[in-house]
Amino acid sequence: MKKCIICSNPNLNVFKFKHIILKDCEKVICEHCKHFSYESSMTDGEFITSYIANSKNKFINKNQINILNKSYWLNLSRFQMIKNYLPKHSETLNVLEIGPGFPGLAYFWSNSEIDYKMYISEPDLSKQKLFNKFFPNISFFDIDKINTEIYHDNFKNYFDVIILNNVFYYFKDPTNIIVQLKNISKKHGVIFVDILNSKYIDKNYEKKIDMRHVFNKNSLKTLFDNCNFSTLFLDYFDTDQQNILNQNKREIGFFDRILYKCLKLVRADLIVNFTINDTSSNFSNEDGMYLRGIFKNV
Ligand SMILES: [Zn+2]
Repeated sequence: MKKCIICSNPNLNVFKFKHIILKDCEKVICEHCKHFSYESSMTDGEFITSYIANSKNKFINKNQINILNKSYWLNLSRFQMIKNYLPKHSETLNVLEIGPGFPGLAYFWSNSEIDYKMYISEPDLSKQKLFNKFFPNISFFDIDKINTEIYHDNFKNYFDVIILNNVFYYFKDPTNIIVQLKNISKKHGVIFVDILNSKYIDKNYEKKIDMRHVFNKNSLKTLFDNCNFSTLFLDYFDTDQQNILNQNKREIGFFDRILYKCLKLVRADLIVNFTINDTSSNFSNEDGMYLRGIFKNV
């Protein structure tokens, strides 16, 4: 009998579903943990190929422009959160980001004081080129080769930080991915996950949904518990937003406010404060738009 991939509960509701990428898709909802997924026999490889083809040569719509505008602040806050949970040791940190698409987070790493070595697993060649151009020190990691001998020899217990920024819902078998990532993660290394709050996925959103899994707080935690990770942080975005803002709090003087208000001029060293202050109101919803977690390999 078919069981929930998170909690093994057999009480599932299954519907036929028209998905923009997955063929012969069914929506499966677990009555117990409320995790739901879009199931199809498509492999991760086929899915990625289709996803890349689907995202090419399209006009950017208004929603995407909003996302781009927000992404600076979003990535800043993500970076700050990851920084708060970095494993403490003096050597170079090995960092892996899976499927970053655009180099949003990499920018903050490169501007930080942290001694790190970054790897990127990015299947889209045009995006790889972007990374090569702007971040020549970044190395590439092919997640499809994770089980090969050479990867096993080189990367076993290797990474201090693994970043899954808005990609974790694309994998067919998310538990298996975490099991594999655990192998390349150092003991006490952390995995950072950021996904969309399931509450935002309504009938309208579903018309254009490209995910395979929709986690809630409970189902995400259960998955990481099952793989022997401890939860260092797990909450909706807004919950920690205040802390993040407080960390960056610096008085913006009267003169700077006027300068910004009248001339849209910002002193370079204040740009971060302004970005945060300008966009934080986008996330006033008490349930937050994103579910964010930091999990430690124990
Ligand atoms: Zn379940």
